Amino acid sequence: MSFEQLQSEDKAYIAGTYSRFPVALVRGEGATLFSEDGKKYVDFGSGIAVNIFGVNDAPWKEAVIAQLNRIQHASNLYYTAPQIELAKLLCEKTGAKKVFFSNSGAEANECAIKAARKYSFDKYGEGRFRIVTLKNSFHGRTMATLSATGQDVMHRFFMPFPEGFDYAEPTFEGVRSACSSKTCAVMLELVQGEGGVRALDADEVKRIAAFCAKNDILLIVDEVQTGNGRTGTLYAYEQFGILPDIVTTAKGLAGGLPLGATMFFAKTEAVFSAGDHGSTFGGNPVACAGAVSILSRIDRDLLLEVQGKSAYLRTHLGRIRGVREVTGLGLMIGLDAEKDARSVAEACLERGLLVLTAKTKVRLLPPLTIRKDEMDFGLNILNEVLGQ
Ligand SMILES: *Cc1c(COP(=O)(O)O)cnc(C)c1O
Repeated sequence: MSFEQLQSEDKAYIAGTYSRFPVALVRGEGATLFSEDGKKYVDFGSGIAVNIFGVNDAPWKEAVIAQLNRIQHASNLYYTAPQIELAKLLCEKTGAKKVFFSNSGAEANECAIKAARKYSFDKYGEGRFRIVTLKNSFHGRTMATLSATGQDVMHRFFMPFPEGFDYAEPTFEGVRSACSSKTCAVMLELVQGEGGVRALDADEVKRIAAFCAKNDILLIVDEVQTGNGRTGTLYAYEQFGILPDIVTTAKGLAGGLPLGATMFFAKTEAVFSAGDHGSTFGGNPVACAGAVSILSRIDRDLLLEVQGKSAYLRTHLGRIRGVREVTGLGLMIGLDAEKDARSVAEACLERGLLVLTAKTKVRLLPPLTIRKDEMDFGLNILNEVLGQ
């Protein structure tokens, strides 16, 4: 099928929720992708922080195919080894006590919201159900996670939204004043992704964590985007000197297969009993086998590599004329550019570089395994596009 045909059939048959860039990606190797007409692209987006080991990653493919050759799905009425192996790996690497698996970031957050409310219900009875989230946050597209998202543009058309969310400025004072005797949890991203690649201040976060602990308000950290090595540590919270009660993740976890995880730490490990929550596909053995392959390779060496690549990219991006500020953490990079972000992304695409946007920022989320020559290729194009 030609690109023009794809485009017109997409328009004919796909619900119009996406404004796609004019390219159809078909294959690749690492951070280098090819479109259906054979044009080459360097990928600074990883399918939005998903393909963290790039595409066509041999060990991951082997693990996924091996599982496909066994059984593709079994339902959660039965035991499957990859799910258990992955949960054990997550717990050993983080100190979490229990994991619930779902299929996406939004679902991982839904699970966290339900768990926080049940924790409070079990301990304090009805009424202590409110959850404080941050202004400019993003927690997903389901009804409850849209409600949790602290952006007015997300709170249109679909009324009524689930109630019980309060939106705070991203500071200790902001959070403290948004909390009341009805608050059961604070949920936040440590680096706001969709909201514009903005890292929270570590001291403010520490004070928020201490305040939550003191008042038995659960601290939920949404690491759907920041997790799985993206920021230079396995999970971003490690760099903020805090211990959350619940951590959610998804995007990069299974290296390109849909998988969400909600991790429960000491305080919350016993919240759920049989029947309290569930998922048909959640923890699918193929996705979990892929995730085991990914997670077991996010080791010290890889994380040091991520930190080195982050420093390299940030140094060079900071020198580009037309870049006012480089934000974010690790390989989650925001560029405050003089030019309009969408037009920058389009100009980069034309030259063979895939970049993302987040609000007014250009957003870069390259595969963690991106090579130096691929980074240099991208830097040259960004220099050309932004510096003109
Ligand atoms: C992408 C994202 C989500 C939603 O994940 P989906 O898999 O699209 O449901 C939630 N929280 C954060 C921080 C995200 O970046």
